[in-house]
Amino acid sequence: MKAALWYKKNDIRIEETKEPKLNKGQVKIKVKWAGICGSDVHEYTSGPFVIPTKTPHPLTKDIAPVVMGHEFSGEVVEIGEGVTKFKIGDRVVGEPQIVCGKCNSCKSGKYNLCPSIACIGFSGNSGGGFSEYAVVNEDFTYKIPQSVSYEEAALTEPLTVALHSTRRANFKAGQTALVLGAGPIGLATIDCLKASGAKLVIVLQRKSIRQEYAKKAGADYVFDPNEVNIPFEVRKLTESIGVDVAFETTGAQIGFDTGIDSIKPDGTLVITSLWESPIKFNPNSILFTEKTILGTLGYRHEFPMTLALLKDGRIEGSKYITKKIFLDDIVEEGFKTLIGPHRKKHLKILVTPDKSLI
Ligand SMILES: [Zn+2]
Ligand SMILES: [Zn+2]
Repeated sequence: MKAALWYKKNDIRIEETKEPKLNKGQVKIKVKWAGICGSDVHEYTSGPFVIPTKTPHPLTKDIAPVVMGHEFSGEVVEIGEGVTKFKIGDRVVGEPQIVCGKCNSCKSGKYNLCPSIACIGFSGNSGGGFSEYAVVNEDFTYKIPQSVSYEEAALTEPLTVALHSTRRANFKAGQTALVLGAGPIGLATIDCLKASGAKLVIVLQRKSIRQEYAKKAGADYVFDPNEVNIPFEVRKLTESIGVDVAFETTGAQIGFDTGIDSIKPDGTLVITSLWESPIKFNPNSILFTEKTILGTLGYRHEFPMTLALLKDGRIEGSKYITKKIFLDDIVEEGFKTLIGPHRKKHLKILVTPDKSLI
């Protein structure tokens, strides 16, 4: 089959590779659409971060070059021995996490924290979104509701990252939030907060078209840190209290600092972003206020919830799609666009291995 393979930093090739083997309990998905994620771009420009290059991944036993693409939708074309929930022709999304099933995290249901976790699209051996086929365990495969298109369904994965972050924060209807950054995950966070009944959503985003995207996603206020003192503005809008929760999606010092300074005493800062280098932090800023900083990683058990939000229209998936391209053009039209001068304009670039879909 044809696939986009990550060889090394700045080296992704479109090549013929062998189709993934369908094992017991798995379904084989013919990919319709797959999104390019910020973490794919990180692996392209500065990797490897999670792609195994020196020793094979303990679960997949595979090593670079690996098929990329972890945000995908498609059609079931083959079912493995013992599969009961799916039949050929079903429209599905695959959850890309592959876990051991035996460790303490897996046994307690928090499988996203499995120490030996692998991911389709980074860890090899399962095909992936940027190829013609992927194999996924039955338990990590979900049917797409009738009213949701394959294109929108390909957004399930990044939307679920945001949904999990709001659930980690125990965010409740009527609460207030600050979202730091309005890239794809920041916007998805705004969407999930609004869907959860947020009373007020304030956004930090420097001047760019992303400010408009944030407003369209439902942000009540969007502030540029170069223009205003955001913690001060947050207090003005919250009766001098501060927001209940802030969500850090920028991976930059200013996002972290603004988050800590804008939450109320006993408030929570959720770290959703990946950090390329350490930042400065004075623990006194949480000591005197009993503020909480917590991390959020991927998701667990939440794909069906996201698909329900897409189904009933509380999240409109199509607004995230800014470009649709053919797999052969993924480097030039996809990755290079996402690091080029017009990158801020783009939210989700969708890729298909099937030219007839474009
Ligand atoms: Zn992703
Ligand atoms: Zn495990």
